[in-house]
Amino acid sequence: MFRGVKPKNIRSAVADRTLEKLTGLWPALKGSLALVHKPCARPGCPACARGDKHPNHLLAFTEGGKRRCMYVPAEMVPVLGRALANGRRIERLLYGMGPALLREHRARNPAQTGPAVRAKRKSTRAKS
Ligand SMILES: [Zn+2]
Repeated sequence: MFRGVKPKNIRSAVADRTLEKLTGLWPALKGSLALVHKPCARPGCPACARGDKHPNHLLAFTEGGKRRCMYVPAEMVPVLGRALANGRRIERLLYGMGPALLREHRARNPAQTGPAVRAKRKSTRAKS
């Protein structure tokens, strides 16, 4: 995958702490929950005859690159709501992982190369 770099398992307090947080955030999902009001298909439904539509929850999600929807039974709404919130928390944790791992690595391994060292070299060269 990354030429010249052998993959290895790292010992990382950051990774361990994040994994601990992740286990408390399950189940999780990506998508969105919406409340819609639609007429039903029952012939002669009094509510629909009055023009009252039926409230229903829909879960919208992407499957194979296509936007899809499924009806959500009322008793599943709180479960899916929590799973969606967990999904957002997990996403934030994942976005934070890269910088956190790099900061941890830098704290253990003071820079030998990179902008900070180049700036230092440039300033010492400028003096001589
Ligand atoms: Zn109806």
